[in-house]
Amino acid sequence: MNEWIYNLPLHCLPSGSTEQIIVRTCEPAALPAASITQAPGRIVAVQLLSLQADSEPLNAWMPGLPVELVMADPATEFPLLYRHTPLLDQHPVRVVIPVRSGFYKAVKTAVALDFPVRLDIGQPNPVLIEELEAVLEFYLHQSTVAQPIEYFQGILLSFYHQAPVSLWVVLDENPQWLRYVADDGEESLYGRLAGVNTALLEANASLDIWMEQVLAAHEQCRSCEFLHHCGGYFKWPYPDYDCAGVKRLFGELQDAATELHRDLDAAPVSE
Ligand code: SF4
Repeated sequence: MNEWIYNLPLHCLPSGSTEQIIVRTCEPAALPAASITQAPGRIVAVQLLSLQADSEPLNAWMPGLPVELVMADPATEFPLLYRHTPLLDQHPVRVVIPVRSGFYKAVKTAVALDFPVRLDIGQPNPVLIEELEAVLEFYLHQSTVAQPIEYFQGILLSFYHQAPVSLWVVLDENPQWLRYVADDGEESLYGRLAGVNTALLEANASLDIWMEQVLAAHEQCRSCEFLHHCGGYFKWPYPDYDCAGVKRLFGELQDAATELHRDLDAAPVSE
């Protein structure tokens, strides 16, 4: 039987259960007290949903606990990242940036402040594909980029090591483990899979079975050269999405991994 990880709002913190929890909140000040009484030791990560919030109460609380700063509007919110840099002293912190118009500036700001980035990519239209290509160029060729930008980093390494890892894993959206609890307490799959009927799958189905029977069941995925790195991710939630742009991005990451291999093979070996 799988042991789910639940992504749930602070007011839904259960007492007495044993599941692992990713708790999301707009009120970080309420979190330390709530977690101590209701979920000691079961919180595996925190998502802060408002960059306007004061994250200072989290600075010294549960050092080492991963924190995600979830941005809603990248075009206007990126200056708010500055106030959250003290979190980096005690926590692994990642900024979740939605791929919406103007997100490139938010990515540059996050990376400049030493935050790793996870792109919340959706199903990007051609305009956003162009912006993604600019961000990929920045990630691959700007020497000052010292932090990972996901999904680029995970997929680049996956190509480099010739060990395919799908976007469901790279972007921490693996339905094998993750469940989402809405603000009204209703449980579903996470993110782009919300609303998917899982009744036909066994409760402990592996990700491979998920991909075969649900995630990458679209006929275009079956013959896609990037099936094992994508896993059908871009066919959700709208299966008629045109993957031409995202395939181009996969191709650029594949070429970058090949180039990296070539450069390393040609590098002189020090004795
Ligand atoms: S790129 Fe598109 S067609 Fe290929 S596996 Fe992903 S979702 Fe399917």
